Amino acid sequence: MTERSRASRTPSVVDRLAAATHGRVPFSVEFSPPRDQAGEDRLWRTVRAFEQMHPAFVSMTYGAGGSTRDRTVRVTGDLADSTTLVPVAHLTAVGHSVAELRSMVGAYADRGIANILVLRGDPPGDPLGTWEKHPEGVEYAEDLVRLVKDLGDFHVGVASFPGGHHRSPTLEDDTRFLVGKLRAGADYSITQMFWDVDDYLRLRDRVAAYDPEQGAKPIIPEIMPITSIRSIERAVELSGSELPASVRARLAAAAGTGSEEDRAAVRAVGIDLATEMGERLIAEGAPGLHFITLNFAKATSEVVANLGLARPAPAMTGSATGVENA
Ligand SMILES: Cc1cc2nc3c(=O)[nH]c(=O)nc-3n(C[C@H](O)[C@H](O)[C@H](O)COP(=O)(O)OP(=O)(O)OC[C@H]3O[C@@H](n4cnc5c(N)ncnc54)[C@H](O)[C@@H]3O)c2cc1C
Repeated sequence: MTERSRASRTPSVVDRLAAATHGRVPFSVEFSPPRDQAGEDRLWRTVRAFEQMHPAFVSMTYGAGGSTRDRTVRVTGDLADSTTLVPVAHLTAVGHSVAELRSMVGAYADRGIANILVLRGDPPGDPLGTWEKHPEGVEYAEDLVRLVKDLGDFHVGVASFPGGHHRSPTLEDDTRFLVGKLRAGADYSITQMFWDVDDYLRLRDRVAAYDPEQGAKPIIPEIMPITSIRSIERAVELSGSELPASVRARLAAAAGTGSEEDRAAVRAVGIDLATEMGERLIAEGAPGLHFITLNFAKATSEVVANLGLARPAPAMTGSATGVENA
């Protein structure tokens, strides 16, 4: 069987969500491309730890920079070849002509990858800066969804934004743009990380009211277990959203007033926050939970265990299990 024909037989994200068993809501995890060999080694330990927990799928983000891109395609392909996991490759339009985008999609198909999360991406350097389309590229993610769907039998997902994308003039516009991506052929969306579950529920209601057919497609909420105040503030700033005052206050209380932040207490609050969000999302019928891992397994696996979503990794500590700190 060729890699391309293997790709065409790969289960889709929607299949994987539907196949969840034992009444458990499925979970999935997001990895980022490693920057060097040490990062790649750590990623593989994390991958092996998650493999034991049976996530519905794993996604690999896509960043700027040629060498990272080559590594991203290679490592995502290795996930398809060497694990039991279903990989989803993120793909962005940043800095690419249509010809290059076609060749990226072909490179993924050649590695047996059929699930692609289609994104526009942010301007390199300053994610909140002015967006400039590649002269021979595409303007919006919706255009890239069409391009990928035209190239073959790919299972496509897109991004959604519980509080609205920071560049969308209004929430109504934001809903229209999301529905446009779904109508163009996307099967599901994964949200940006958020903190107020009501924002997720309102997004779901908005899409269902605008277009019931598209509103029936899964909207997978994304959760980032907080392990440090500095890293979450940076991540939130880069995404163009804000950390609500209530979350900030809980973290600040945990950090304490000493000269050094109480990192263990902050982390414990982060795990509690993610667990509380997960519980409410499950109660509200979310189709799955997608966790940002930053290539560490420990924090997410604790939340997953708290929620009873998977067989937890063996109770060992340290890198021997791949369940490293964070
Ligand atoms: C789950 C998830 C994963 C992500 N992974 C990555 C990643 O791997 N790499 C990365 O670089 N970034 C990633 N991002 C960030 C994402 O690329 C940015 O948020 C980006 O600014 C928007 O991408 P989009 O695909 O939603 O773009 P689009 O849907 O194209 O929207 C971009 C802007 O254009 C507006 N718009 C959309 N369609 C139209 C239209 N038809 N007419 C007028 N305006 C329109 C939208 O309101 C929005 O303001 C991710 C985001 C999420 C939520």
